[in-house]
Amino acid sequence: MQNPHILIVEDEHSIAENLIYALETENFSTTHLATGGEVVPLMQSQDFDFLVLDVGLPDILGFEVCKQVRQFSSIPILFLTARDSEIDHVLGLELGADDYVTKPFSPRELAARIRAILRRTQLAPVLPETSSCLLEHDARSMSIHCAGSLLDLTAHEYKLLATFMSQPGRTFTRDQLLESAWQDPGSAMDRTVDAHIKSLRAKLRDASELCSEVIQTRRGLGYCFHQPDEN
Ligand code: CA
Repeated sequence: MQNPHILIVEDEHSIAENLIYALETENFSTTHLATGGEVVPLMQSQDFDFLVLDVGLPDILGFEVCKQVRQFSSIPILFLTARDSEIDHVLGLELGADDYVTKPFSPRELAARIRAILRRTQLAPVLPETSSCLLEHDARSMSIHCAGSLLDLTAHEYKLLATFMSQPGRTFTRDQLLESAWQDPGSAMDRTVDAHIKSLRAKLRDASELCSEVIQTRRGLGYCFHQPDEN
């Protein structure tokens, strides 16, 4: 990825300035906001690769901003926290954040952490909780329910389906699916993906007739997931 674009949300200008300087020195591009209320509208009109989010913002808490962002985006999020009680919150609420740092922090160390998270999330895309009434993904328990019953999935089947559900309508190539669902994609083959898709389809069909067609083959390209049609 070239020049990842980082959105920094921090109301203390000296902290924001140090952070912007450190990140731009390391070839990130940055956009800075000082209030939480501006985050969602901006993210809906512009693409970012990473969100650095202060917890103590003047208008709404960073936690609330995180919840709102997670409704529509799986962007990596790192919290800036000022107090131990805020850290407890980050850990306790399982908000879907990728990391946190406590103030005061070293901007250079933070840049290194952002780079590490970006590297990790590019290899293994973040799998946000997704749900439709028929198919429900619970990221915390790493389980997927179909028509109310728990799907008995292997680890690879689970990761494949969670990857599909995170981006309905997107066509994934076999290579992309191998990267997201296999820890060592080099050792697996395209046919491996096909075999797992086949067993996954069978399990979905067994759970609900309406889910039998959710994973479609795009000939010569790969596979694409569509939310089941409940009507
Ligand atoms: Ca603050």
